[in-house]
Amino acid sequence: MFLTTHAAIGALIAQQIPGQHFLAFTLGIVSHFLSDVVPHGDTKQYKDYVSGRGVKKALAYVIIDAAIAIYFILFLFNADIPTNRLTVSLGIAGGILPDLLVAVYEVWRVRGLRWFHRLHFFFHNLISEKKDMTLASGFAMQVMFLAALLNLIV
Ligand SMILES: [Zn+2]
Repeated sequence: MFLTTHAAIGALIAQQIPGQHFLAFTLGIVSHFLSDVVPHGDTKQYKDYVSGRGVKKALAYVIIDAAIAIYFILFLFNADIPTNRLTVSLGIAGGILPDLLVAVYEVWRVRGLRWFHRLHFFFHNLISEKKDMTLASGFAMQVMFLAALLNLIV
């Protein structure tokens, strides 16, 4: 899923447990794995990246995704939401950490992260490897989901 979606889920969870920083971080990580199980249209894109056919496109996608996630977080912390900012920050950090570790593994092939990479794609591909939606449908689904999350957060 988009980093923004993972960040929003982590923020929403953390908002429910103000002051429980470690729990927010942990639940952010757990929420990442669980939400990635939902097919979201990027299976073909990742396969194209791995095969070397769609590297530029995948990198552009990740950069755009990361920039939008930064805008989202800036918006969140500049909106006047009644919450514990540190808890929400840790919920967001936990929510996006798995994709950060996957990216570190993809770039540097850090041996110690191989198990994590496998675990991530175990959840990510649980359903989508058999049946995924199109990238456009996954985009539309996540935008609607994000709007609903934002409505709950702000
Ligand atoms: Zn992920």
